[in-house]
Amino acid sequence: MKDIAEIRSDFPILARKVYDKPLVYLDNGATTQKPQCVIDALTSVYTTYNANIHRGVHYLSDKSSEAYENSRERVRSFINAGKKEEVIFTSGTTGSINGIAFSFGERYINPGDEMIISHLEHHANIVPWQMMCERKGAVLRVIPINDNGEIILEEYYKLLTSKTRIVSVAQASNALGTIVPVREIIDAAHAMNIPVLIDGAQSVQHGITDIQTMNCDFYVFSGHKIYGPTGIGVLYGKEKWLSELPPFQGGGDMVDKVTFEKTTYNELPFKFEAGTMNYTAAIGMCAALNYVLDIGLENIAAREQELLSYANKRLSGINGLTIYGNSDRKISTISFLLKGIHPYDTGMILDKLGIAVRTGTHCAQPVMDRYGIDGTVRASICFYNTKEEIDALTSGIEMVMSMFS
Ligand code: PLP
Repeated sequence: MKDIAEIRSDFPILARKVYDKPLVYLDNGATTQKPQCVIDALTSVYTTYNANIHRGVHYLSDKSSEAYENSRERVRSFINAGKKEEVIFTSGTTGSINGIAFSFGERYINPGDEMIISHLEHHANIVPWQMMCERKGAVLRVIPINDNGEIILEEYYKLLTSKTRIVSVAQASNALGTIVPVREIIDAAHAMNIPVLIDGAQSVQHGITDIQTMNCDFYVFSGHKIYGPTGIGVLYGKEKWLSELPPFQGGGDMVDKVTFEKTTYNELPFKFEAGTMNYTAAIGMCAALNYVLDIGLENIAAREQELLSYANKRLSGINGLTIYGNSDRKISTISFLLKGIHPYDTGMILDKLGIAVRTGTHCAQPVMDRYGIDGTVRASICFYNTKEEIDALTSGIEMVMSMFS
């Protein structure tokens, strides 16, 4: 693995100062910083071959279409999907889940049907399903979590019935960091012929993803959380589902033949890609995936787990600090509260020290309700962070505590 100095020099923003202090960026769960190769890939599109994809016969259009389709192939091999046609580009995780919730609802959901999510979900994996349930007269069921922030599998098994049509869960919680036992969840659903969507927004960047081993029916993630650009995401779906589902958007490129009487749709994956796609961002995401592959997903996972246990040790030594989410299996995210201090105050003071953390409900209000709290402070660590930065966070927290004592 590259050494840490070399890794950090790949990310130009990490060298900047904030309020004249070195930036300590610990908000990677919200979005990650971009390596120079991603920035270069975007510049290269705009400076050398920008043209709309799949539309023209001219040289530039050919070049950009080829780069876009190469990005699709890169995503396919990155997640080990069986076929390139099973990889749909979207605007992000939110776009992917909304799309499936709409299409699946239209095709398969009837009044009285049920679908299952968990109490750990990000709003992006709650609200689209709620909207679907409202539209179709279906019922949303929620798998409860225990005090450690882990899904209670026995309760999940009880929720699976002949009325269940789909299950949709995150592979890792953005609010608590819990890694969810998706294999057990998928196997139990499949035993009853129920498909499963896995929200990989907080997991795909932390280790190897093998769709075929996981055997989920749908898998979604966002480019910007895996060191790629904003505005691009992935919706993987098994061919047997995607070929049956109706498109969730209509427009250019997703059609075969259009007349005023009837329109027939394009083949996969184009059926689900209406209008001008964010091909620039897809090409940028390809560079990001190449970058993490070059570092090695196993190396990334090992380094992040080491940083997580270091951070756990440092933070749990602080009197008055409570960590929310204490599963044995976590991504490198720590959510915490300081006794008697509002998370916004903690976040604002840390900010003045150059330390970027996230405060609030993390788009997971039901998780906060579960613990009876308004929000937390969240440090989300990734492989370009250092133990020195965790020390800076620890001293910053100690300063906050002393200011309020
Ligand atoms: N799902 C999870 C678990 C997330 O953490 C997030 C974003 O934080 C999302 C979905 C939504 O991702 P995006 O805003 O990139 O669509």
